[in-house]
Amino acid sequence: MSKITIPLKFTSSSARRASEKHSCFHGLIPGQGHVNPLLRLGKRLADFGLFITFSAPEAAGLSIRKANNIADDEPVPLGRGMIRFEFFDDGWDFNNPNRNDLQNYLAQLELAGREKLPQMILKQSAQGRPVSCLINNPFIPWVSDVAESLKIPSAMLWVQSCACFSVYYHFYHKTVPFPSENDLEIDVQLPFLPLLKHDEIPSFLHPKTPYPFLGKAILGQCKNLSKPFCILMDTFQELEREIIEYMSKICRPIKTIGPLFKDLKSNITSSKENAIRADFFTAENCVEWLDSKPPQSVVYISFGSIVHLKQEQIDELAHGLLLAGVLFLWVLRPPQPMESEAEPHVLPEGFLGRVGDKGKILRWVPQEEVLAHPSTACFVTHCGWNSTMEAVASGVPVVAFPRWGDQVTDAKFLVDVFKVGVRLCRGEAEGRIVTRDEVARCLTAAIGGPEAAEMRENAQKWKRAAEEAVAEGGSSYRNMEEFVYEVARIGGDK
Ligand code: UDP
Repeated sequence: MSKITIPLKFTSSSARRASEKHSCFHGLIPGQGHVNPLLRLGKRLADFGLFITFSAPEAAGLSIRKANNIADDEPVPLGRGMIRFEFFDDGWDFNNPNRNDLQNYLAQLELAGREKLPQMILKQSAQGRPVSCLINNPFIPWVSDVAESLKIPSAMLWVQSCACFSVYYHFYHKTVPFPSENDLEIDVQLPFLPLLKHDEIPSFLHPKTPYPFLGKAILGQCKNLSKPFCILMDTFQELEREIIEYMSKICRPIKTIGPLFKDLKSNITSSKENAIRADFFTAENCVEWLDSKPPQSVVYISFGSIVHLKQEQIDELAHGLLLAGVLFLWVLRPPQPMESEAEPHVLPEGFLGRVGDKGKILRWVPQEEVLAHPSTACFVTHCGWNSTMEAVASGVPVVAFPRWGDQVTDAKFLVDVFKVGVRLCRGEAEGRIVTRDEVARCLTAAIGGPEAAEMRENAQKWKRAAEEAVAEGGSSYRNMEEFVYEVARIGGDK
């Protein structure tokens, strides 16, 4: 598994006009679910007029350069601002089979990043572009230390829900009992959250998690929370209102700025500017195929950029699709270099022949476009936070198939709080294969069952709320403006 963090750096100017006077640095990991929100934030801030430098380790740089046909260090105009990319060598080769251990990678990234990040920032100053703000994500809390040591203000982009933020915060401060070795099955009740069963808290906090170092990394950010001057979140006020208000009171004021995937069309004028992307895989064309299908008829299936299901589970999913007899678009992603132990998936014999034009299987798709397409009926998702936000803010109901981390909490919210989904499983900790009958039953319920219309109605309501939040004058728009104003002020524009 691999949720990693890349240092990203951002340079800002005034909110009105791009200049090379100020800078903002960033930090994230070379995982799609980390790169996407940080790049989206970078684009949004540039759109508001800041000069942005997006910096990441070479592993992400390879894909980002390829996706955008960009030259390093060359600022590109974007909206009212500029964006440039700068990548650094983190001393790690994911193609080496001995180098697929995420825990060791995180340690190496910290070692390399603590040395390289200050060098890059100082280089910017020497070139007359002093960095005015460094933005990181919670998986690399040490970036706040780097900022502090350089006396540069920092901000943190929380890349999960505010509900998960609350769970990590309360776990760190030991305010309520959590599952422990002595009692693995305690349920957790926190203010303004529904009761979370032991397998609905972010699984990295559970004593049985195979990935304790990821929980530890995020808890490191809880420890470092006093350092960033601002906590940004890729969620929106209307979606998690009470939790956001409560956490803003007991912790630090939270600025919700999501959904970040919704581009502000107002200022970004050319499609070239809008098309700056960081896909680790080349997206395949599926829009014409979707165009040929009736409205709300296609099941979209994707488990994000990291989850790799067992072959047996793939077989059951394939048979479930046949049993349900639905149209489907299925992303079957090949293993990445860091997943050297994962075998490429094989479809059951004769499957493609039986499916014919009713189904399409691709390696990677432009997910935002798929979710926005009128033919898409529902989304079978692993419930990563990006996919969750993209589904909710596109008005698409979901079939929740979480595996680990915040996905299990997101699944709970999608089904029981946002009321836009049905649950297919509870997560990896269940240790079972979901059968073809369960798959078929859930798909039928999500597309045409009695709850289907209500789920779609709820999803459409969230879509409208998300659009209002990012539109001029909306809650996320105002928060973004305030943040930009603050960065510009720090940079000396006011
Ligand atoms: N994604 C995509 N095309 C695909 C599958 C996924 O563009 O075929 C994007 C998706 O839109 C989302 C990201 O990859 O922004 C996955 O992030 P998420 O947090 O959902 O899951 P993770 O990959 O971190 O597990």
